[in-house]
Amino acid sequence: MISKFHGSASECVFVTLLAARAHKIRELKKQHPFVEEGVLMSKLMAYCSKEAHSCVEKAAMMAFVKLRILQPDENQSLRGPTLQQAMEEDIAMGLIPFYVETTLGTTSCCSFDNLSEIGPICEEYGVWLHVDGAYAGNSFICPELRNPMKGIECASSFNFNPNKFMLTNFDCSVMVRDRFRLTQALVVDPLYLQHSYSEQSIDYRHWGIPLSRRFRALKLWFVIRSFGVEGLQRYIREHCRLAKKFEALVKKDNRFEVASPVLLGLVCFRMKVGNHLNAKLLSSINAAGKIHMVPANLGDKYVIRFCVCAQNATDGHIEYAWEVISEFATDMQDIIQHDAINRF
Ligand SMILES: *Cc1c(COP(=O)(O)O)cnc(C)c1O
Repeated sequence: MISKFHGSASECVFVTLLAARAHKIRELKKQHPFVEEGVLMSKLMAYCSKEAHSCVEKAAMMAFVKLRILQPDENQSLRGPTLQQAMEEDIAMGLIPFYVETTLGTTSCCSFDNLSEIGPICEEYGVWLHVDGAYAGNSFICPELRNPMKGIECASSFNFNPNKFMLTNFDCSVMVRDRFRLTQALVVDPLYLQHSYSEQSIDYRHWGIPLSRRFRALKLWFVIRSFGVEGLQRYIREHCRLAKKFEALVKKDNRFEVASPVLLGLVCFRMKVGNHLNAKLLSSINAAGKIHMVPANLGDKYVIRFCVCAQNATDGHIEYAWEVISEFATDMQDIIQHDAINRF
């Protein structure tokens, strides 16, 4: 396994999809030497969960392959049997599964796909497994947070963004993968780029789209030098603790509910009222400009995402944020009552 820096998680996902596509086409070409590549391409099928980041859909669009979006379980986690059933159905229709994208730490609620179930299935079907850990992947620096990684040994590639949760300035997305598979996929070798060390060195230009690259490794190296592994672990643990504190404040107030398990720095919560009222609450909070939050849909529920992001966030900031939210909720009491009356 070897790693390379990219500019974004979206780029990592796109590049691995291209590599998986090239890899599968090459394999199919051996079995069916007289079938045109375009015909083989039209049979390829990629998979991801409904909770996967939108960059997967974009990557499939750019790579011109079909993508089947699967329903996760009630904990927003993609499960092995769901994937296997979909692949079986597709194979029966003459399609060829070639790529599965899983997410550890989804954007909407930081849920985790079940890698320990999905990994062995991908191996069995000869399918490229990519793991997107853009945010939560950073937390694996803490041994006690590594549970969701079970099954990662089956992955062909994995990415995480130190610019999201490891104190590194944008841009910095690390992709770890099996060197040779990706290397073969994107090789173009004009005379002016050839050199006499191609046997010994890794040519990172074969790993992605750009030829020239920034020295992102230096930036990350300085971050690791400045904070130390223990310092980075402390930082991540502190953000998890603050998120738990916020969760406790939400739980203490019976007008509110927590909408998904709080495992890292993200808390998804909502008022126990209709979606449109939650949307109204959030838009008035954001309009006031004191704190800023972003919503998501979980199933049919509109939830508000509170994420601890600031480097030096303290207990005081969390208490202040909750005060702001709770005041706006109180201000909305009239509207809520009015809404309830209108419903009868
Ligand atoms: C943020 C995020 C992305 C997109 O990251 P970019 O680096 O901006 O492309 C992709 N996947 C997940 C799970 C994310 O949280």
